[in-house]
Amino acid sequence: MIPTKYSQLTFGFFLSIFMSCVVSGVSVLNTTGWVDGFLNMWMTAWFKSWIVAFPTVLVVDLSPGRLIPSSVKQTVFIRDGGKCVECGSSDNLHFDHILPYSKGGTSYSAENVQILCARHNLSKSAKIL
Ligand SMILES: [Zn+2]
Repeated sequence: MIPTKYSQLTFGFFLSIFMSCVVSGVSVLNTTGWVDGFLNMWMTAWFKSWIVAFPTVLVVDLSPGRLIPSSVKQTVFIRDGGKCVECGSSDNLHFDHILPYSKGGTSYSAENVQILCARHNLSKSAKIL
């Protein structure tokens, strides 16, 4: 079993390869047309685009890890009875990472997600900072 963090890295790696492949292929084809040496230019452009694309994809793609999938939200909502686990309020609810995402907490497991009202969510983030 690969930890979620690393599988995202792997996903970003392959996504960046795929994206840069397509984008560089199209842009080389667009500028030079289908000429001899196209494949060579494509490979060079691909490699250069990938160097840029990989870190970009990591930054862009890893951040959605903060987002909690709706299946997890449903599980948590039912488990916590649709109210703040601290005070039972049902106004202004937020899904909260028990172990913060920035500290390696996962969004993909209901175990690490709880429902908090805005007030408790804010007081919790203040404590972590
Ligand atoms: Zn509360």
